[in-house]
Amino acid sequence: MKVIVVGGGAAGMSAASRVRKLLPQSEIKVFEESSYVSYAPCGIPYYVEDLVNDINALVTYTPEFFKKERNIDVHIKTKVTKVNLSAKELTTVSDEGEKTESFDYIVLSTGAIPFVPDKRWLEANHVYALRHLEDGYTLKNDLKNLQNVAVIGGGYVGVEMAEALSKIGKKVTVFEMRRLMPNLDPEYSQIIKQEMEKRSIKVIEGFTVKAVENSGEKVRIVGDTEQPLFDAAVLGLGVRPNVELARSMGLKLGETGAIWVDDRMRTSEPSVYAAGDNVEVNDLVIKGRKRYAPFAPEANKEGYIAGSNIGNQNITFPGSAGSAITKFYDLEIGVVGITEDEAKKYGIEAFPVKIKHNAKASYYPPQEEVYLKIVFDKKRRVPLGGQVVGKNVWGRLAYLSLAIENGITVDRMFFSGVPYAPPFAPVWDSLIVASRIFYERV
Ligand SMILES: Cc1cc2nc3c(=O)[nH]c(=O)nc-3n(C[C@H](O)[C@H](O)[C@H](O)COP(=O)(O)OP(=O)(O)OC[C@H]3O[C@@H](n4cnc5c(N)ncnc54)[C@H](O)[C@@H]3O)c2cc1C
Repeated sequence: MKVIVVGGGAAGMSAASRVRKLLPQSEIKVFEESSYVSYAPCGIPYYVEDLVNDINALVTYTPEFFKKERNIDVHIKTKVTKVNLSAKELTTVSDEGEKTESFDYIVLSTGAIPFVPDKRWLEANHVYALRHLEDGYTLKNDLKNLQNVAVIGGGYVGVEMAEALSKIGKKVTVFEMRRLMPNLDPEYSQIIKQEMEKRSIKVIEGFTVKAVENSGEKVRIVGDTEQPLFDAAVLGLGVRPNVELARSMGLKLGETGAIWVDDRMRTSEPSVYAAGDNVEVNDLVIKGRKRYAPFAPEANKEGYIAGSNIGNQNITFPGSAGSAITKFYDLEIGVVGITEDEAKKYGIEAFPVKIKHNAKASYYPPQEEVYLKIVFDKKRRVPLGGQVVGKNVWGRLAYLSLAIENGITVDRMFFSGVPYAPPFAPVWDSLIVASRIFYERV
């Protein structure tokens, strides 16, 4: 049995490791076009910030480790350019030229590509999009001589990069076409904006960037109003599934534009599995819908499932509710599930509960707050979505995610065992208070 893994990120290396464990006699090869496998792009902002000094700290295991400990052949700087499904052969290109490989199974784990509206933006000097560790390395190096930086896009990566750049003393301006973290309610988004302004970051919302180009050595941001020139621009405009190879293979793409897979992570072609930022999965909030969830925890688990099923297990991936978290300095920000507007779109009568509460016992210093919104389904009495902003967000978001994913009713949530001690939560935690509001009013 010969298994080829295309892409050595979180999904690919999880799949390869799982196949090795279950099929000790198999031959496993991983082809990765960048210089690293088993790496954490999520750490790039913290590397730029210098919280992490060595880029290699973002690499969990090296190719040598995979060979020695798991007998997996890793080929870095090698791109898979073509797959011939009927001949069960694929073509790789590296410095050594073009080669052909046979396979029994493929795992396509090609990840995502940063969204850039016009590829000419990236042709300009000092304009950066983040995908591979090399991108983080180049940015950090170049930044030594650059001071005035524009961040384009106010989503997760934009917020994290704004923090990183501000912490290393850059003058930062964030451009966002809607509002910061647009999947949050406007007033929560406003809290992030205020935090940014407190840190002397300029935030320009409602600004659609039409072009990014050079003006001499500087970077010009073109939009409806004239902007000063910048030394550099970092793009954080979201990602799109990397489906180029899948498309060329004739694999079915799904309703979100990502690769369609069944719940065993098998594509429309039986010998090809796919996992990670290139696939869509079941939406755990609106049944029957697919969700594009380009997050590291999903990628790892999907890779595990793909590898397990190639290894003759029969396990399924339930799907995702899109639980995601980030922070800006001390302000933690989490979202999961759907918004009130989305609920309306699906014909669901939503009952939103929005509260501002103490993040821990009111007497326990320093006084910190948490803003919590839960969107409930009025008829089914279950949570559909949540937004958590402030302090101690991770635990609350994890609880809410589990409740949403599993259809836990509000009646059960109200009386659930949320732990309490003064440094962590008030005795009536925000999650319980929000559930109680629904319980008493509906
Ligand atoms: C700056 C940044 C911050 C992030 N922060 C978070 C976070 O805080 N939390 C979170 O959950 N997620 C975060 N993410 C997203 C997370 O990194 C991804 O969800 C995760 O890496 C997906 O894993 P993957 O294996 O699907 O894709 P990737 O890790 O992208 O790996 C795919 C690999 O495939 C390779 N490849 C593609 N095509 C080919 C080909 N034809 N031949 C050979 N190789 C190929 C690519 O080079 C790439 O290395 C962040 C991403 C970035 C960029």
